[in-house]
Amino acid sequence: MPSQTAQLLDGKALAQKLQAELTQQVQALQPQRGRPPGLAVLMVGDNPASAAYVRNKERACAAVGIASFGRHFPADIPQLALEETIQEMNQDDRVDGILVQLPLPEHLDSVALLNQIAPDKDADGLHPTNLGRLMRGEPGLRSCTPAGVMRLLAEYLIDPKGKHAVVIGRSILVGKPLALMLLEVDATVTIAHSRSQDLAAIARSADILVAAVGRPGLVTAEMVKPGAIVVDVGINRVSDDSGKSRLVGDVEFDAVQHVASYLTPVPGGVGAMTVAMLLQNTMQSYNAKFK
Ligand code: NAD
Repeated sequence: MPSQTAQLLDGKALAQKLQAELTQQVQALQPQRGRPPGLAVLMVGDNPASAAYVRNKERACAAVGIASFGRHFPADIPQLALEETIQEMNQDDRVDGILVQLPLPEHLDSVALLNQIAPDKDADGLHPTNLGRLMRGEPGLRSCTPAGVMRLLAEYLIDPKGKHAVVIGRSILVGKPLALMLLEVDATVTIAHSRSQDLAAIARSADILVAAVGRPGLVTAEMVKPGAIVVDVGINRVSDDSGKSRLVGDVEFDAVQHVASYLTPVPGGVGAMTVAMLLQNTMQSYNAKFK
């Protein structure tokens, strides 16, 4: 096995840098504008992972000076009540960004809810208008996780132009928008998924390999071209033999770090960037209001 190890794409450090920049911008703009940027995170039920994500987002907002207008609803809230809340937030001038924490309980129609969010307050970039803008290559609010991946690559001066990028996973949250963003910067893009034949061969042909599946150990060292850039979007909670739990991605980190040239750690890679992009989207909407 080669002794060389991949350089880590440090999402945590970059997120801290971006958040420090945002803090300064908020401090400079708030006195003239009379209010800080505002984000409303809507959460339904008590899913512990969702609760942790929401806490994380609200903590990050507080750290940079973005006001939180989040609401927490019981698991049995009717669809109509949530839709009314979103309409209220759409009208509220203090709120620049709105997001609905997914997944939602079964009885709720998440697509219908996301469609209620005003596109210019769509902090998660998942409204069809913003996804359509991405498809057309027009400016708009971009989905946070794929935007975070792109920002992380840019920070390390990795230019996808002309490179073969393979994205494993085709969700509307990560895989599809990320493939479009890579295409936008002139990568040659392949999307692989659960029905792809010979995933290993497809993965091995990648200069930039992104795993966004949710399956620990999916990407092994044998699936990585020597020198490839590997981005691990997966977040999986696993338990070791002693029953202690920890977070891992979709990539076999210990082995792949000896094959790849760059690699994102989990945690501390893409996840940290997702929150930073959410704050940045909120700032973008805030700035657009005062143009
Ligand atoms: P999803 O379940 O909606 O989509 C998973 C995708 O993986 C599907 O398109 C499916 O076709 C593909 N897939 C499933 N099994 C496969 C296999 N054996 N081989 C190849 N492809 C396969 O999940 P998602 O919402 O896109 O999330 C994917 C992962 O990314 C999860 O672990 C999730 O927790 C994580 N995630 C991380 C962040 C972050 O901030 N880092 C944000 C969102 C999601």
